[in-house]
Amino acid sequence: MAVKKTTEAILPTTPLADVFRLTEPQKKGLAKIGIVTAYDLLYYFPTRYTSTAEIKHIANLIKGEDATIYGRVVSSKTSKGFKSKIPMTEAVIEDSTGHIKCVWFHQAYISKMLIEGSMVKLSGHVEERSGSPYLANPDLARTKELPIGSTDSLFQSEDETIFYPVYPETRGITSRFIYHHIQKLFSKGILENIVDAIPADILARYHLPTLTTSLVWIHTPQKEADALSARKRFAFEEVFMIQLARQQERALTKEHSGFKIVPEKNALADFTARFPFKPTASQEHALKDIFADFKKGIPMGRLLEGDVGSGKTFVAATAAYATVTTAPLDNKFGNLQVAYMAPTEILAEQHFKSFIEYFKDTNIEIGLLTGSGAKKFPSKSDPNGATSISRAQLLKWVAEGNLPILIGTHALIQKSVQFKNLGLAIVDEQHRFGTAQRSKLAKKDEVLPHFLSMTATPIPRTLALTIYGNLDLTLLDEMPAGRLPIKTELVTKTNRSRMEEHIRAEINNGRQAYVICPRIDEPDPTKEAALNAKSVIAEADRIATDVFPEFNVGILHGKMKPDEKEWVMEEFKKGAINILVATSVIEVGVNVPNATIIVIEGAERFGLSQLHQLRGRVIRSNHQAYCYVLTDSTNEVSQKRLKALTTAKNGFELSELDLTLRGAGELSGRKQWGISDLGMEAIKNIKMVEAARTEAARLIAEDTSLSNYPLLLDTILKNHRDTHWE
Ligand code: ADP
Ligand code: MG
Repeated sequence: MAVKKTTEAILPTTPLADVFRLTEPQKKGLAKIGIVTAYDLLYYFPTRYTSTAEIKHIANLIKGEDATIYGRVVSSKTSKGFKSKIPMTEAVIEDSTGHIKCVWFHQAYISKMLIEGSMVKLSGHVEERSGSPYLANPDLARTKELPIGSTDSLFQSEDETIFYPVYPETRGITSRFIYHHIQKLFSKGILENIVDAIPADILARYHLPTLTTSLVWIHTPQKEADALSARKRFAFEEVFMIQLARQQERALTKEHSGFKIVPEKNALADFTARFPFKPTASQEHALKDIFADFKKGIPMGRLLEGDVGSGKTFVAATAAYATVTTAPLDNKFGNLQVAYMAPTEILAEQHFKSFIEYFKDTNIEIGLLTGSGAKKFPSKSDPNGATSISRAQLLKWVAEGNLPILIGTHALIQKSVQFKNLGLAIVDEQHRFGTAQRSKLAKKDEVLPHFLSMTATPIPRTLALTIYGNLDLTLLDEMPAGRLPIKTELVTKTNRSRMEEHIRAEINNGRQAYVICPRIDEPDPTKEAALNAKSVIAEADRIATDVFPEFNVGILHGKMKPDEKEWVMEEFKKGAINILVATSVIEVGVNVPNATIIVIEGAERFGLSQLHQLRGRVIRSNHQAYCYVLTDSTNEVSQKRLKALTTAKNGFELSELDLTLRGAGELSGRKQWGISDLGMEAIKNIKMVEAARTEAARLIAEDTSLSNYPLLLDTILKNHRDTHWE
């Protein structure tokens, strides 16, 4: 007997390919934008809406504009180009005000949609030939009726405006495809199978629509306010989920125990007295915060945020000293150990050298582990120097607890690296170093090492509250005394030569300069690195041949091998290279005190905080430093932004300005912080961020494991919990 087959319900997890017949190009396109399941498609949001208010009358079309028109097909024909043999479809469309010709190339199928007398909606670019406007390759959709009923006039009153979502497109996937497939999912009843992860009381508290309502409103809004409400809800959702993940991480961390570290006062004073300077009040304050955490017996999780040059290394070194002079709980053997992780080999090498400086004659040994090898200080033959050793030997010492301090790159979190008694993990400029990495370092379940994250990336408070929700924050908002404020100048084509003369004079005076090439944005990272390398090489060529033939010019970019980079940095440090041409993405925080000039080309392409960080490279000494910000952009907003560089007091101020002056979408949240453009809209809104934070904290306090909220747990496990290295 045949069993009647019921149509299966579409669930959010159902792969789209099971629901729709998709062509190969469509499958590829969807994969590219990360859409696999029905859920993915529903969460693919429009970037904007066109409304019927934007609909133009044919008679009013102006060459060069993008326009949407509604009209009736008068005639259409398809032919092949005389020479090119390219299929071409032509149609004449009319509305109550006139008619216009439309032309499509390579789209023979389009003629099938152009039935004489039928209504169509066209969106495209208005071109002109022999004085008459026409639309070339416009987007075509058939519609049953004019958006505002059947009157002759296309004028409508405000309240009758209809909105159409516009989705980001990719090859094989048009905005229209997305729209129609979402509507099909709706009509197949998917909304009935969707459960809102956000508890209803939270939504009610902030007047946010439910998930099903929001999905309908964001994809098919009846009015602008609906679309806005929906966007607000999804923005809240994103920030709330991140907060929830971070708050949970924080709570779970505190359930572990941490080593009690109570430094001996005199010993600590002796150590800080070794430095050739007096710590700033900010540095003292930071140490106070850290030692207060160290006392508690639970693992510290603290972020030390301070501009480049504010002296974070001093704080790190002092905390490290206190740690390695403390015995572990069981007190069986040796002292606690410190891991200090830097984002690049050059920086790791630099920290290694600084630490050698700070720790020499203390009998505290220091190791360096990077992708290129291992080193140890002091060397047997030279008590003041380091020596290369085998990786295996270094790892053995680390595992036996015989090496107190290990500095390195990502190499430190490899499986083969086993600390005996890791007490403190310090990471420099790693925004997304989560519990997973921490426990990898610890490799013990019961005791988690203390964790000190350091960053010079100034970010707005709302963003910090969100992405660093798992950490306590200490600001180093004071520069060491005696620093001359950097002189920053905007340079355009007209005053370039004056800048060049000044650079020449400074270099002749013994100083050195960085030239930073414009950033080239490319979705494909390999391509991006290649393009950036190319522009560095070209710029270095230009400078060495045309501008400063008398000076030595070096290059530094991401395509170079580690030892090539290291060699260049050494030459630059030694002063053998006068001008270093580099990309922006690498080696922030490189320390060459004699480099006092930085030239930043194409500055309008950078964020303010990024520019601020770049110029931080040259405030490493007491020589007057100069930053030249080059732009040929006359855009008012970018001028205003760049001018702020000459007036703002610190990086935090600039990051806030960036958030207000640039659209949230321009802050490239996805790339840097893993936050979508929509989520960045929430970041602009302090109230929303605080609401999300309050609610997340409340839930976690009530139910740390989120056992009563399986859907929330599911979401954060999937999306936000396991923060990865960038
Ligand atoms: P950051 O890592 O915060 O960018 P560093 O720790 O590299 O900064 O310090 C920058 C420079 O300032 C170093 O040369 C360091 O020796 C020096 N420095 C740090 N603290 C002080 C201080 N309190 N007074 C004077 N110089 C300092
Ligand atoms: Mg630093």
